[in-house]
Amino acid sequence: MTQVAVVGAGTMGNGIAHVFAQHGHAVALIDVDRAQLDQALKTIRGNMDRQVKKQTLTEAGRDAALARIAPASDLEAARGATLVVEAASEQPAVKFEIFRTLDGLAGADTILASNTSSISITEIAARTGRADRVIGMHFMNPVPVMALVEVIRGLATSDATTAAVMDLARALGKTPVEARDYPGFVSNRVLMPMINEAIFCVMEGVAEPEAVDTVMKLGMNHPLGPLALADLIGLDVCLAILEVLHRGLGDDKYRPCPLLRKMVAAGRLGRKSGRGFYDYNK
Ligand code: NAD
Repeated sequence: MTQVAVVGAGTMGNGIAHVFAQHGHAVALIDVDRAQLDQALKTIRGNMDRQVKKQTLTEAGRDAALARIAPASDLEAARGATLVVEAASEQPAVKFEIFRTLDGLAGADTILASNTSSISITEIAARTGRADRVIGMHFMNPVPVMALVEVIRGLATSDATTAAVMDLARALGKTPVEARDYPGFVSNRVLMPMINEAIFCVMEGVAEPEAVDTVMKLGMNHPLGPLALADLIGLDVCLAILEVLHRGLGDDKYRPCPLLRKMVAAGRLGRKSGRGFYDYNK
């Protein structure tokens, strides 16, 4: 058993805490927002109840896992952790400050991991005095269900840190894949241009959203069409990641589609706002 700290108890943080606790790790779940912490604990319990119903977790296993999660509102709670997974808001300044603080209070051997989707691990690591022990641990949403963990090596991340995190991901029942630290890593570098191109198809009148998604579902065997997936991810998040790819790789092939910009400007952000390429209020 390892003592783990998860920083940020939002969509990803609660799932990451869930998976570590289920696999026997003591978890300090830290968020500056008390209401978010309460909500996270409720979500974890609800998701574990569902696992019990599906008989993938026993009642005793659920109770033991829930008892391993200790909510906290101060980074101090990460002090005894051997691994910290940061899943706070996707803002460079927020992450840089968290890593600077963690570096000051975590043990010398502690690995500091970030779940960032688009911020450079190398840049985050440079805020610490332990760049060899800073790494990306990119879980997918919903964390308890999705098998992949993209493990991102910053420029200075050591072999030992990478091996430890790959092993740990396997012990959580996940399949880790190693990638180097370039904008978007592998996942978003491949996914976002596909979503962007699907939006160009709609903008240029090639086909309606339903038709684009049907082609990709029935023709390419994707479980979800790219536009439905974009609505699920959030169109503002897609735009922000495309901006990172465009800026970071300096190639116009990543330029965000003008229709995507227009939809974000109009507040049509996808499921979370009730409307994106589809209307969720119907
Ligand atoms: P979210 O907005 O749901 O949650 C972020 C949480 O961080 C909030 O509860 C917020 O209160 C908390 N927070 C902000 N500043 C903090 C601080 N200084 N200390 C502690 N907590 C703080 O966001 P999310 O969707 O869970 O994303 C979290 C991270 O995971 C981001 O880096 C994102 O890029 C990445 N990610 C998200 C997804 C996804 O599908 N949502 C998938 C993969 C990776």
